[in-house]
Amino acid sequence: MGLLSFGTPLAWKDTKKLADHIRSHGITQFLHTWDRVKDRCGDELFWGDEVEYMVASFDDDTRSVRLSLRQTEILAKLQAIVNDISCHCPDNVVVPLFHPEYGRFMLESTPGAPYSNKVTDLLMVEGNMRYRRSLAQKHLKKNEVPLTLTSYPRLGAPGQFTDPYFNPVDAVSSHSLFLPEEITNPHARFPTLTANIRSRRGSKVAINLPIFVDKNTPRPFIDPTIPWERNVYPEDPEAKNGAALCDHVYMDAMCFGMGCCCLQVTFQACSVTEARRIYDSFVPLAPIFLALTAASPLWRGYITDVDARWNVVSASVDDRTEEERGLKPLKNDRYRIPKSRYDSVSLYISDNWLNRPEYNDVEVPNDPEIYERLRDHGIDDILAKHVSHLFIRDPLVIFSELKDQDDENSMDHFENIQSTNWQTVRFKPPPIGSSIGWRVEFRPMEIQMTDFENAAFAIFFVLLTRAILSVNLNFYMPISKVDENMQRAQHRDALQTEKFYFRKDIFLPNSSRSSSVTNSGKTSPAGSDREHNGISNGSHQPKKTKRMGNCFLEVPPPPEEYITKVEDEYEEMTVAEVMNGKGHNNPGLITLVYEYVDTLDINDRQRSRLFEYLDFVRERSTGKFQTPATWIRNFVRSHPAYKFDSVVSEEINYDLLKEVDEIERGVKKAPELLPEYYTGRDEDQGSIGL
Ligand code: ADP
Ligand code: MG
Ligand code: MG
Ligand code: MG
Ligand code: MG
Ligand code: MG
Repeated sequence: MGLLSFGTPLAWKDTKKLADHIRSHGITQFLHTWDRVKDRCGDELFWGDEVEYMVASFDDDTRSVRLSLRQTEILAKLQAIVNDISCHCPDNVVVPLFHPEYGRFMLESTPGAPYSNKVTDLLMVEGNMRYRRSLAQKHLKKNEVPLTLTSYPRLGAPGQFTDPYFNPVDAVSSHSLFLPEEITNPHARFPTLTANIRSRRGSKVAINLPIFVDKNTPRPFIDPTIPWERNVYPEDPEAKNGAALCDHVYMDAMCFGMGCCCLQVTFQACSVTEARRIYDSFVPLAPIFLALTAASPLWRGYITDVDARWNVVSASVDDRTEEERGLKPLKNDRYRIPKSRYDSVSLYISDNWLNRPEYNDVEVPNDPEIYERLRDHGIDDILAKHVSHLFIRDPLVIFSELKDQDDENSMDHFENIQSTNWQTVRFKPPPIGSSIGWRVEFRPMEIQMTDFENAAFAIFFVLLTRAILSVNLNFYMPISKVDENMQRAQHRDALQTEKFYFRKDIFLPNSSRSSSVTNSGKTSPAGSDREHNGISNGSHQPKKTKRMGNCFLEVPPPPEEYITKVEDEYEEMTVAEVMNGKGHNNPGLITLVYEYVDTLDINDRQRSRLFEYLDFVRERSTGKFQTPATWIRNFVRSHPAYKFDSVVSEEINYDLLKEVDEIERGVKKAPELLPEYYTGRDEDQGSIGL
């Protein structure tokens, strides 16, 4: 997560004094970059995934499991190995990268180089993920396993949950009642972020998840594991003074959120315009993919009534003051801010008529001076709003040695603010001095327990972006409805039981797939504009492609007047309907992906391998396969030691994590989660170049 600089981090009061300095220079830096790259065009598709792990340390003699806090040593070792492989291995082996993360028990890995637009790259994704996991596994202790779990079930629960043990009384950064200082990555950035969020907010963060009420859950549920009367830090009484809600699982530190693992995918666009359109099309997809990948029902030793991490992470870094949260009238602060720094996107950013002003219907406070500066520089209204909205936030970590930068040749101050705006989708300008173009990152997905599933979602999403670009799909709907969907996506079993707002007609007015009335008032003729983008309409076979293109088709001219009222453009549907179709103008995202695959030049074997992933995603969407969240919840509730009191004991946790590891390795079959053809990780996969 974010940039790791070195130096002396400033405490909050000194950081606050420099906030305007950082913002002002951050914008100068952005404008220099803008001047350099605003017309950059023709970049090809590059893309890559990020997978996060938590390293679990098993003790089979005592049947216990803990989080291993050896991140620093593990990363040093992996770095040495990776350097060594790079020197000795054949050119065609792309050596993976490992990165630190917030939790001292976490690792992140990415492919060593991004994937290209070659169709065959898609078939390397799972192998690459498995290779990364195997490589990590191989250099861990014998009893350690890199698990891809979104939330650690007993993080902050009574008893020992880290290896080695540390007492939460020493948590000088977070002042947590539950988590020790040593839970956090020791690099100065992370404890400083933690402490400065708490100081800026004026209290500890407060996270409350409704408990899953089971047969024997005491009601009202007043959590006996909270040290209600502790008196070590000034914030200790917060829990009893209202921060900890009845019938909820209460958490009070950044690590409960930023200690979660997720799956992210990043795409390079051919131009800034394409990046903006991709960004907008990802925004309404975020809740759908959060529901599809939901994997985190267990928190601080309890089963909760939610399936996904989003609100936890959001609250875990919520640095807004009481004034900013609207609890007190504005006096010292400048804005009322409706959302945490970690939250869903608040503004579509495309500058064309498809992005109707009515869609941007939530409050987006922005810094008026920064907005004016951007406008004066020639940046359009909506992009200026986007950037000046990000820049209402204060920087959280400043290293005193790095406060003055060469603004023409640095983006550090810009990135300081940008990289601590953690939204569902991130719009990334090209870095300085690199060949990388405009990128968009899709961030909502939860990590899946196996690399087969992680690869399936990454591959599906890549193909979906290509379908979006080649058919010119339109997912716009009011952002307020996307926000509502984000909440629904986290509900227990949302995939099966919730409905989500989604567009009824996802084609543009002139698309042959759409029966919408065009601006001339007539129904558009079928077939005409679909040939050059390579999508078959059944009439004849288009030329197949070996490379996945980018660049949207031209946006058609605007209608003389909008044919539909915004409220008539969307309706509620299940995820299965979003994915598999509902009505004539929404054939379903999966259908479009299958159609797109038909345009690819691949042989039958490659095609059937791709279809394994797509079929899996389809079967997840229809409920044939459970979400990890449902599976985990069911595992706990059917464990012989479970007392139907919502408690995930150490014994249950041990058995759960053992089972997750065995499923991942293919030792144990889980037909409710994975297709029959799933095989576990080949133990030899870690051996390339070693
Ligand atoms: P962050 O943590 O800031 O999101 P990372 O460096 O961890 O960024 O990962 C970003 C992802 O982007 C990786 O999967 C990487 O392979 C991929 N990537 C690298 N270069 C490009 C590029 N030019 N276009 C698209 N994706 C890229
Ligand atoms: Mg990460
Ligand atoms: Mg990363
Ligand atoms: Mg990073
Ligand atoms: Mg193993
Ligand atoms: Mg990322």
